[in-house]
Amino acid sequence: MELKLKDEDAAFRQEVRQFLQENLDESVSRLVRLGYGVPKPVQDEWTRTLNARGWAAPNWPVEVGGTGWSMVRRHLFELEMKSHHAPELQGFGFSMVGPAIIKYGTEEQKQHYLPKILNAEISWCQGYSEPQAGSDLAAVRTRALIDGDDYIVTGSKIWTSAAEHADHIFALVRTNPDVKKQLGITFLLIEMDRPGITVEPLIAFNGKRLWNQVFFEEVRVPRNQRLGEENQGWTVAKNLLGNERLLVSRVAENRRILSCIQEVMQEQSTRGIKVDADQELRLNQLKISLEALDATALRLLSAFDHGGTIGAEPSMLKLRGSQLVQEMDRMLFDLIGYYGLPVDSQMLAEEAEPVGPDYCDRVANGLFHHRGYTIAGGSSEIQHNIIAQAVLGL
Ligand SMILES: Cc1cc2nc3c(=O)[nH]c(=O)nc-3n(C[C@H](O)[C@H](O)[C@H](O)COP(=O)(O)OP(=O)(O)OC[C@H]3O[C@@H](n4cnc5c(N)ncnc54)[C@H](O)[C@@H]3O)c2cc1C
Repeated sequence: MELKLKDEDAAFRQEVRQFLQENLDESVSRLVRLGYGVPKPVQDEWTRTLNARGWAAPNWPVEVGGTGWSMVRRHLFELEMKSHHAPELQGFGFSMVGPAIIKYGTEEQKQHYLPKILNAEISWCQGYSEPQAGSDLAAVRTRALIDGDDYIVTGSKIWTSAAEHADHIFALVRTNPDVKKQLGITFLLIEMDRPGITVEPLIAFNGKRLWNQVFFEEVRVPRNQRLGEENQGWTVAKNLLGNERLLVSRVAENRRILSCIQEVMQEQSTRGIKVDADQELRLNQLKISLEALDATALRLLSAFDHGGTIGAEPSMLKLRGSQLVQEMDRMLFDLIGYYGLPVDSQMLAEEAEPVGPDYCDRVANGLFHHRGYTIAGGSSEIQHNIIAQAVLGL
């Protein structure tokens, strides 16, 4: 099923396609296609290429260097980027803290941070979760005491992705422990090289450094690096999570994995390996689920473009999109059979020689890595709770 796009949106999609064909280096898209991701300098260069075209920040307003696109266009752009295997831009800057700075930042903060994000001059990590505050995020304990023009921050953040590369962290800290927990939180923008910050790796079960724990030991942070009002950080955080969840359907990513599945099946049939009826059925079920997800995402985004408000729909998209990625991964993994077995971290290192056909090289890594999709940014159980309350009235 193909939803009918307006002529101007179809032309826009074509324009994006052409830009990608002309500007995306094949060696870079190959790395992305095979699931390696790209080194940070390559990602930064790609950010600057998009920025030169005015397309680095699809979700920002034009006045601050964004595109001002409708949600539907953003969705189409994302689909084209993924289907051409373009590197992803740094979501923490472009999709999370950037929009929060645009909404809550002072003029000075906007001028300082936004151009640097657009030009890949700074990179961020997200300091929300703590050992005792995950799903119940408002329970954060990392405390910030006022001392003259500074806050003194002490505590720790956990599961902090990309902290080892980031030069800034946006963090929720407790500035008032004596009020309802949501009312005593402040949002800070902190340089990672401030004295008192240490970063410890957390290694996932596939041997990869997937996260970090970030420790703050009496870290001095100027008060003008606060985003929004003191004790109003929860409002900023909720807004930021909203931004994070708006485009969470993972339709583009699902399409990418689906095309890998089809490529593998095609390749196997040229080698005389017959696709059995069960596989055929499974593939068709995945295709139907993906079309349903895509149609639902477009319906929601289009309603939002026409002034609709966002309720629990992003939770539905997040839930189904993340589950579907895992179902797709599973099928791909099953299809490639023993070529999917080398899951040892050494064998997964970029330098390692592929064991089977090149498309098998990172399938296991994807399978394991994407397990986190049903946890990060709000677990599936939490999304079920939201849907149960907001949609089913339970
Ligand atoms: C790949 C990945 C990357 C991440 N990156 C970051 C990052 O960069 N920065 C950051 O701050 N955090 C990050 N996180 C952390 C993530 O936001 C938390 O893991 C998530 O919010 C869940 O919190 P928790 O791990 O403390 O689990 P908990 O909240 O302790 O939950 C444990 C289990 O209990 C369930 N549960 C909890 N409360 C309820 C409830 N009320 N009803 C029903 N079930 C419930 C949960 O669904 C889960 O299954 C990342 C996580 C992953 C997996």
